[in-house]
Amino acid sequence: MTPIRPLKDILAEMTAKDAASVALITKAYATAEKAHAPQKRYSGDPYFGHPAEVGYLLALIGMDPATIAAGLLHDTVEDAGVKPETISADFGMEVLSLVQGVTKLGELRYRGLERHTESLRKLFAATAKDIRVLIIKLMDRLHNATTLEHVPRPEKRERIALETLEIYAPIADRLGMSVAKQELEDAAFPWAFPKEFEKTRELLKERHNENDKRLEKVEKDLKRELGDAKIRTFRTEARRKGIYSLFRKLERKNWDINSIYDILALRVIFPTVADCYAALGIIHSHWRPVPGKIKDYIAFPKPNGYQSIHTTVYTGDGGALEMQLRTEAMHREALYGIASHLSYKDAQGGQGGRGSLSWVRQFFPRLRGSTPATASTSETEGSVPDWVKELALAHQPGESEEYLDRLKSDFFSHRVFVFTPKSDVIDLPMGATPIDFAYAVHSDVGNKMSGARVNGKMVSLDTALRNGDMVEIITKPSAKPSRKWHNIAKTNMAKKHIRNALGQQEDKKG
Ligand code: MN
Repeated sequence: MTPIRPLKDILAEMTAKDAASVALITKAYATAEKAHAPQKRYSGDPYFGHPAEVGYLLALIGMDPATIAAGLLHDTVEDAGVKPETISADFGMEVLSLVQGVTKLGELRYRGLERHTESLRKLFAATAKDIRVLIIKLMDRLHNATTLEHVPRPEKRERIALETLEIYAPIADRLGMSVAKQELEDAAFPWAFPKEFEKTRELLKERHNENDKRLEKVEKDLKRELGDAKIRTFRTEARRKGIYSLFRKLERKNWDINSIYDILALRVIFPTVADCYAALGIIHSHWRPVPGKIKDYIAFPKPNGYQSIHTTVYTGDGGALEMQLRTEAMHREALYGIASHLSYKDAQGGQGGRGSLSWVRQFFPRLRGSTPATASTSETEGSVPDWVKELALAHQPGESEEYLDRLKSDFFSHRVFVFTPKSDVIDLPMGATPIDFAYAVHSDVGNKMSGARVNGKMVSLDTALRNGDMVEIITKPSAKPSRKWHNIAKTNMAKKHIRNALGQQEDKKG
């Protein structure tokens, strides 16, 4: 059985150590512990072990006290009968809204069909208006995924595992949270694809010793070479490729494990960017680099913001080893991604106010001032920025504070995501109506629409759709679009189709 993560661990990992923050976490811990006291996990362990672990993980990645408190309390309303009013009275509206956001995400279910996954990811993003909700949910899922062996029903275990691989891990990846991504994948992999997992594990076993020895030798040589060049301030770290990520690569390489060079990599972390480039020169003059394997993600960051220089060198023993050169800041961001920017540490000594936007003001303090050309709010059809791009943009230098505000409060809420009766997700602008929905499904559906049901009830065609609505369009062969529809429709696509149809009707009359 897993011991419950004690409060002192959470407090020890907390970045903000002011009395008010400590009091908030302590109270959240006690409230959750008491609320979950009668409940047990599938493993037979006390239920509270779960929220305590979620709170700990959030503290570990440097989240703010409200998020840690919400992590501790995340299941109290849904599963332990604590009233929302109690949470808001004892912990404030910010904590309550985080808890409710997590609860709402829990209601979404993966349906196991490829074509739904991207839609579900979008819906996730839209529903989680505050990115911190997604981060809590990721840590919630991470703990659940690592305890899957206790879930009694195999179908449920498999569903959770697949959902973890196809929804949660990609979200962690998009947020740049590589540790969370790898842990989610590796926890879910054995339950989602048991045979492939075994096969990969067997292959990996044969390679382990060889890799470890090579790494040790290269590390020693590297320290000497850098030392000779008077570069002495740096640290090294071994990075093991996740087993799921290795499996995906093996699939692409016809299961030839000898063609994969990054099963084990050596990370070298320096104080400055200049050190990274200097070290690259020294490394390449000592070891011959593998052609085509040099990647400068410092000059050209990955879309999720990842920065490092990668190079693979021949190690002289017939093998090769990947090295990753980066600064401390890049390292932290590579591990924790967006969470490293939401970290509370910059807030200390600042205004310290915990207004709902204070964390956003701490969000990328280095990126203030200029106006981003990309953060246009114009809502033209077809130029809908996809959420992945938006998140990636947040990592680029030069974004204004305003834009970051929007990222938190608006960006996820200026779209509505609604379902077809078959559970496909349709992405529409705020204020969109059943007319917009019908044309978004297909112009024929729009042109033959005679009515609409929302969540099973007939509604008028000017009803504004809300996130999560299930919309059913009723068609009749004799139905026709009207001028009035044109005035009601919000999307250019619907308006265009309506104008076309009206034009044809005019033509027929004339
Ligand atoms: Mn939970």
